[in-house]
Amino acid sequence: MSATRFILFDLDNTLYPRSCGLFDHVDRLINRYLEEVVKIPSDKVDLKRRTYLQDHGTTLNGLMLNHDVDPHDYLNFVHNVPLGDYLKPDNKLQSMLAELPEDKYIFSNASNEHCQKVLDFLGLQDNFAAVYDINYFNFRPKPEIEIYRELLDDIDRRPEDGVMIDDMAVNLQPAAKLGMATILFEPLPHISLPTDGRTLNSLMKLPQILDEIKTEV
Ligand SMILES: [Mg+2]
Repeated sequence: MSATRFILFDLDNTLYPRSCGLFDHVDRLINRYLEEVVKIPSDKVDLKRRTYLQDHGTTLNGLMLNHDVDPHDYLNFVHNVPLGDYLKPDNKLQSMLAELPEDKYIFSNASNEHCQKVLDFLGLQDNFAAVYDINYFNFRPKPEIEIYRELLDDIDRRPEDGVMIDDMAVNLQPAAKLGMATILFEPLPHISLPTDGRTLNSLMKLPQILDEIKTEV
């Protein structure tokens, strides 16, 4: 059987650990956007976000559908984070990724600008063949299965030759359904795992888990 030929990487909370605090900052800016720009009362913000995430994949999608929010305005606002406060070049990760023979792609619900900036701060700008961001899919987010199909078409690969890694189990489900192997990064204790249950707490262990996936197929 064929070995893994490509890997789709989520970006936020996957290429850097959740504990670095970057995404907490984004999270606070999302709350501020809902309060200050969309004028949702502060005590309703958390519930709104949970509902939008569950019903529409991302907060942004819910805001576009229910409040006619301009996606560019939203993304500029929530990604306005001093990345240097949270990220520094990750040389070990850089060399590990450089040595992996698989083609590597970013598959993110963030904007291309944010993805490129994060890659620059981590020193990973040369490790990925392409970035598939929320703009590429016209603001349709993971986990809409159609965008997974469009990505696979664009890179001209079969799902069974690929692995996807993401910190959100829900984003891995369509990939698994299409036949990709999946790896859940830094699983949260209360979130149920995708069916094959592979998890990873350090990206440095990725080569090992890729070898395990190869021997399984
Ligand atoms: Mg993520």
